[in-house]
Amino acid sequence: LVPVGLIAGGLISVAVLLFLRNQSSMPSLLKAGLRKNEFFVVYQPIVELKTGAWVGAEALVRWRRDNGEMIGPDTFIPIAEDSGQICEITMRVLELIERDAAQLFYGHKGFFLSINFSAQDFANPLVIEKLDSMVKHLRIAPDRIHVEATERVFMDLETTRRNVARMREIGVKVSIDDFGTGYSSLSHLASVELDALKIDRVFVQTVGTNSVTSSVIGHIIAMAQGLKLKIIAEGVETEEQAAYLRQQGVELVQGWLYSKPIDAVTLRAGASSGMDR
Ligand code: C2E
Ligand code: CA
Ligand code: CA
Ligand code: CA
Repeated sequence: LVPVGLIAGGLISVAVLLFLRNQSSMPSLLKAGLRKNEFFVVYQPIVELKTGAWVGAEALVRWRRDNGEMIGPDTFIPIAEDSGQICEITMRVLELIERDAAQLFYGHKGFFLSINFSAQDFANPLVIEKLDSMVKHLRIAPDRIHVEATERVFMDLETTRRNVARMREIGVKVSIDDFGTGYSSLSHLASVELDALKIDRVFVQTVGTNSVTSSVIGHIIAMAQGLKLKIIAEGVETEEQAAYLRQQGVELVQGWLYSKPIDAVTLRAGASSGMDR
């Protein structure tokens, strides 16, 4: 039995080592990926529940390595945040959005675009400057850009106030993303002027189930309405979920029931046909 144990232990160690080596090479892969333009952006429509119209979209970054392998943002964004590369990715995303501006903004009255910002993006003058210059460059009303930040960005009140104030100067709107999955306190939310709250998919998924957390979504909606925040429910996959949200007075939704993330040309085509609905 001893040799078997040793062999098994050895194999596990080798697997762990390979895993760690793989992990540690990710930052250098990211660096190469930026240099080789391996990143692109897709857009998921944000839909008005009442009409079915596509009124906005969320920009979501994608990474296809030159060997064809797709790496998801849930994998590489946290690593980029830890390795200090997230700001470079965000700036690349802003450039890619600017390139898609014709499809996204022009002749497309009121259509808004949400962009994800990490905590480090708010602290980086280069990112803030790039956002500001993009808005000016595009010559669109700045409030057609929404910056989405997770609760991590809203951890301490002073930083939050400063970040939100800077966004106000640029004129973009600010949404709190993945609300309820982090640690931000209610009191703090109420004291900062945010524009919108995104309800995470984990809460939308509980609709119609008997799970212990299924009452949470109702409380989040009531709270957001109390604070006069616009609500966007994410990850809507079923008619039952949509019906519940409609009944609760939620106006904007996003999810596979309506559309997966798509490229800018497809987005524009879909949004235009929606205008006739
Ligand atoms: P998120 O900001 O919460 O984005 C929503 C995620 O839910 C997206 O995953 C989207 O594709 C997915 N999704 C939308 N509708 C549905 C649905 O009906 N069902 C299911 N199962 N999933 C749905 P994605 O694109 O893989 O992005 C994952 C996360 O990576 C994002 O979560 C966001 O935190 C981060 N991320 C993506 N793009 C960027 C970016 O450009 N910058 C930063 N900082 N983070 C980004
Ligand atoms: Ca988001
Ligand atoms: Ca989210
Ligand atoms: Ca998320």
